Amino acid sequence: MKIVACHVALLRVPLRTPFRTALREVDSVADVVVTLQADDGRLGYGEAPPTAAITGETLGSITAAITQHIAPRVIGEDAADLNRVVGLIQTSMVGNHSAKAAVDIALHDLWAQHHGAPLYRLLGGGCAQLTTNLTISVNAIDTMVDDALDALARGYTALKIKIGKDTDDDVARVRAIHAAVGDRAVLRLDANQGWTAKQAVRAIRRLEDAGVPMDLVEQPVKASDLDGLGYVTRHVATPIMADESAFGPHEVLDVIRRGAADIINIKLMKAGGIAHALRIADIAGMHGVPCMMGCMLESSVSVAAAAHVAAARSQVITRVDLDGPSLCAFDPVDGGVHFDESRIALPDTPGLGIRAIRGLEPF
Ligand code: MG
Repeated sequence: MKIVACHVALLRVPLRTPFRTALREVDSVADVVVTLQADDGRLGYGEAPPTAAITGETLGSITAAITQHIAPRVIGEDAADLNRVVGLIQTSMVGNHSAKAAVDIALHDLWAQHHGAPLYRLLGGGCAQLTTNLTISVNAIDTMVDDALDALARGYTALKIKIGKDTDDDVARVRAIHAAVGDRAVLRLDANQGWTAKQAVRAIRRLEDAGVPMDLVEQPVKASDLDGLGYVTRHVATPIMADESAFGPHEVLDVIRRGAADIINIKLMKAGGIAHALRIADIAGMHGVPCMMGCMLESSVSVAAAAHVAAARSQVITRVDLDGPSLCAFDPVDGGVHFDESRIALPDTPGLGIRAIRGLEPF
């Protein structure tokens, strides 16, 4: 199954409502979609979002990395020779993890189609049904409470609340949401690097003392501040999760060895694709550290791939934050993983199961 061509296109999907975190505000998905074509006519799909604030990658950098550095390494290679081609992608250039992830996902899609089975089954089996939380953007308190109640009405039982602005306001936001939601939903907080270590300990303890149960607090401090992350982890009872501090297998191993976090958030766009995401899950599993499977603002092409990884490593990946498709105004993908609010159903079709992607625009 020789790879004969690699195409890139732009996929634009408006969001239902603007997505706001401590780092950025976005109102639509505008991602790079990669199509790898095999000599038997099969197509493998992948996707990468420009998340400059987190991975440093833009639409321009992703397309240039793929067309000038990564595609020339994989064209002419046999997709059935998976580990070899993954190695060629990973060594094509330094960094550019999302660009690598897009091609790695398309490669895995082709590889699984070649073997005639759903990707998650070939990666280790697992459950074909997942349940995701929903992100509540950081806003005025009343808006966040309304959004949380709306999420409950839509069937979500876990909320990921974006905070990380002013700690007093953040504590008030979470207390108000807890008062409105009660025990009807699990609360996960994501500060997106917005606090110092001492601010984080103070804010989390105030919430603990107020009796607000928190499933976890994600990335309270700057990505590079592993000492600060470890300080928070040791000084609060609530589990702390590393996101921006934990990109690939090496960074994750460092976080775990230093005891800097209790949980790891795996994202294909940080890891550089499926192969490295699996490696992260296996490293974490070896150390008894649970993981969440997360995503950036992505459509159901690359989030489908993340769902396959979560299903294949469900013993370690105990939490799922794959709400990208739920935040989109419509699903541009025919076939593939079915996203229905909190419910994610993996198909029985080979590979990712994607038949077509509507609305692809040439660059
Ligand atoms: Mg995060």
